Amino acid sequence: MEVMKLKKPNIVILGAGYAGMITATRLTKQLGHNEANITLVNKHEYHYQTTWLHEPAAGTLSPDRTRMPINSVLDLNKIKFVKDSVVEIKREEKKVLLQNGEIEFDYLVVCLGAEAETFGVPGVHEYAFSKWTVNGAREVKEHIEYQFAKYNNTPEPQDELLTFIVAGAGFTGIEFIGELSERLPELCAHYDVPKEKVKMYVIEAAPTALPGFDPELVEYGMNLLESRGVEFKINCPIKEVTETGVTLASGDEIKASTVVWATGVRGSSIIDKSGFENMRGRIKVDLDLRAPGHDNIFVIGDCALMINEEINRPYPPTAQIAMQMAEVCATNIKALMKGDSLKTFKPDIKGTVASLGGKEAIGVVGTRKLFGSSAHFMKKMIDNRYLFLLGGPGLVLKRGKSPM
Ligand code: FAD
Ligand code: NAD
Repeated sequence: MEVMKLKKPNIVILGAGYAGMITATRLTKQLGHNEANITLVNKHEYHYQTTWLHEPAAGTLSPDRTRMPINSVLDLNKIKFVKDSVVEIKREEKKVLLQNGEIEFDYLVVCLGAEAETFGVPGVHEYAFSKWTVNGAREVKEHIEYQFAKYNNTPEPQDELLTFIVAGAGFTGIEFIGELSERLPELCAHYDVPKEKVKMYVIEAAPTALPGFDPELVEYGMNLLESRGVEFKINCPIKEVTETGVTLASGDEIKASTVVWATGVRGSSIIDKSGFENMRGRIKVDLDLRAPGHDNIFVIGDCALMINEEINRPYPPTAQIAMQMAEVCATNIKALMKGDSLKTFKPDIKGTVASLGGKEAIGVVGTRKLFGSSAHFMKKMIDNRYLFLLGGPGLVLKRGKSPM
């Protein structure tokens, strides 16, 4: 009797961020070697923790601490890694076009992360730093140091060399200025620049910094940052970024050689390019995390949009939710392969903690408000928890942060 050999299905994961890495580790654990071919595609040979990037951008942490080679975390005997850039998803043909080839899939997980949202403000891509990636962080750090070096090496130094603008007082903007303001004394001492020459602005369109966050914690954070020399301009939308600085909606200009853009994110441009129905690059996924109308395509992390029915607004794009989605996505792919019913995804928001540089942070965990060093401790624990979920205690020991 002839034995028929069934073809193993191809599971392809696009993007090795929080969502992609957790999906990959869970799938390799849940599926036997003979059950599927699993492939992870990422544009770099390394995985990076986006949530740490404000630190290397301000120069308070080495960029290498935020990244790790993919082969140091994943067992490449169980999963194939392809270093390449995704160009387009051909949904009907069940294949993905890469910069250097193409790859066929039976099941696809799209988790290509986010890109900067400009809300149509001109000049962002040309004159501001807006890429929250390892190389983006390196660029900001080097640029800041160059401004300091140039200031003292110019016959008539311009004040704008030492003016630093952060656009948006969301969590990214606040965490970045927290690190930069903490590093300022060291930069001033190193480059022989009087501290009073440096200006740091955080410019926010909404009537408050960190809109929607606990007002008492916002006040604590703003007071602390102001005590380090940060000036907030609240209720003050930026209308344009130019070669010389920013123009506000009021028409006023602030001259600055450095504008760091942090006004929020949209999903990957690959989503739109591939013809998926989307809202600002994010696909409103079904409750089982599949793209509507596509039985075999899961979309998770910052590329996915899910509505919080309690407030009728989308859940924020966070690593916390990306990781939770990845767990359910892996379970659902296995269920789909076996013909079982799929799980419904419901985020379990444990809290939010934002660092303010040094040993300072603010946060809400469960119903508890945290300030100062206790919030700082919690933030480091959250950073380490991710490493634990990804690679167990060994990875925390190797790559973790000291909570002190
Ligand atoms: P990512 O983690 O960004 O991963 C996407 C991956 O896809 C990357 O590896 C990228 O290289 C790869 N990729 C992109 N395009 C392509 C392509 N065309 N081809 C191949 N590969 C590609 N969230 C929290 O919950 N807590 C926090 O404390 C927190 N802090 C943050 C701090 C900062 C400074 C920033 C910027 C964000 C922070 N966030 C935080 C948000 C969080 O980082 C994101 O929600 C999270 O990274 C989303 O995970 P993801 O897997 O969807 O995308
Ligand atoms: P965000 O949407 O949270 O904040 C962006 C801010 O920019 C808003 O306050 C908005 O009013 C402001 N803004 C928009 N247009 C503007 C303009 N033209 N001029 C001035 N201000 C303008 O975005 P983010 O801070 O980039 O964060 C992105 C995602 O990552 C969010 O979901 C956030 O929760 C998450 N995140 C979480 C943490 C944390 O938990 N510690 C840290 C960083 C980011």
